[in-house]
Amino acid sequence: QAKDRGRNTFQFYTTELGEQTRERFDMEGGLRRAVERDELALHFQPQARLADDQVFGAEVLLRWHSPELGMVPPDRFIPIAEDSGLIHRIGHWVLEAACTQARRWEVAGQPLRISVNLSGAQIVHGDVVREVRHVLQQTGLTPDLLELEITEGFVIGHAERGAETLRQLRALGVSLAIDDFGTGYSSLSYLKRLPVQRLKIDRSFIRDLPDDADDCAIVSTVMAMAHSLGLEVVAEGVEVQAHQRYLNELGCQYYQGYLLSKPLPLAAFEAYLAGAQRG
Ligand code: C2E
Ligand code: MG
Ligand code: MG
Ligand code: MG
Repeated sequence: QAKDRGRNTFQFYTTELGEQTRERFDMEGGLRRAVERDELALHFQPQARLADDQVFGAEVLLRWHSPELGMVPPDRFIPIAEDSGLIHRIGHWVLEAACTQARRWEVAGQPLRISVNLSGAQIVHGDVVREVRHVLQQTGLTPDLLELEITEGFVIGHAERGAETLRQLRALGVSLAIDDFGTGYSSLSYLKRLPVQRLKIDRSFIRDLPDDADDCAIVSTVMAMAHSLGLEVVAEGVEVQAHQRYLNELGCQYYQGYLLSKPLPLAAFEAYLAGAQRG
């Protein structure tokens, strides 16, 4: 089905659209080979407690080093992977690689919770529940060391099917977070029905703290709402100390952002962890 769509899309592109879509086609072909040619890599961005900077986990962020295109950011290739159906193969690779790594840390006596981003397509069209169960069995990773991030926009658009899949994932013992929270207009009652443990406040609301009164109001409302629903909150995109201070005052417990560290390749991330422990 995705294959058919891909074929039609290609015809449409070559006849109707010029340069822009040829690039898109090249990207799709390149992406198709990227998995076999070992061009994908995981980067890790630490997540810490706001109060004392104690690192407890990391978000896993996919990187594509294409020999033809150079380093391609995920915002450019993930949508193409989704449209072409390649996201299933790529998403599986990410899950397997991330859980394998997390299991190494666990065995080494340094358990870290990893957060893996899931695409909406993996939830709606894929067999993500079986996939996660299989990867957990295969790697031996303790399920509560895996968190899956789903964007708010997706969850809202796919209420029925999405909610059932999330319940099945939760039943495997993994935890669930809503990513980019605040950008999708979800309601309180809606959130209450989903088996999620965490909200990640989108970085667009963090950027102008504490100067922008609207953003301050939004973030403190999210904090109050999360508190009353028993959800944890992670602030994304914390770049400066003023962000951290203000979020701490609001009672936000966890954060991630350039202030702590950019996403790092494996070796650099492990060096970072070693340094963070000493310091
Ligand atoms: P996201 O899941 O919301 O990830 C956070 C993004 O914010 C990352 O961009 C990260 O590098 C960036 N970021 C973190 N801290 C800061 C900060 O302090 N300031 C600023 N300006 N940016 C910060 P990245 O790595 O380019 O990823 C972009 C998006 O691509 C992700 O947004 C996610 O939606 C998607 N993505 C990445 N990896 C995967 C994956 O394995 N699977 C899927 N389905 N999507 C992925
Ligand atoms: Mg994310
Ligand atoms: Mg996000
Ligand atoms: Mg995002």
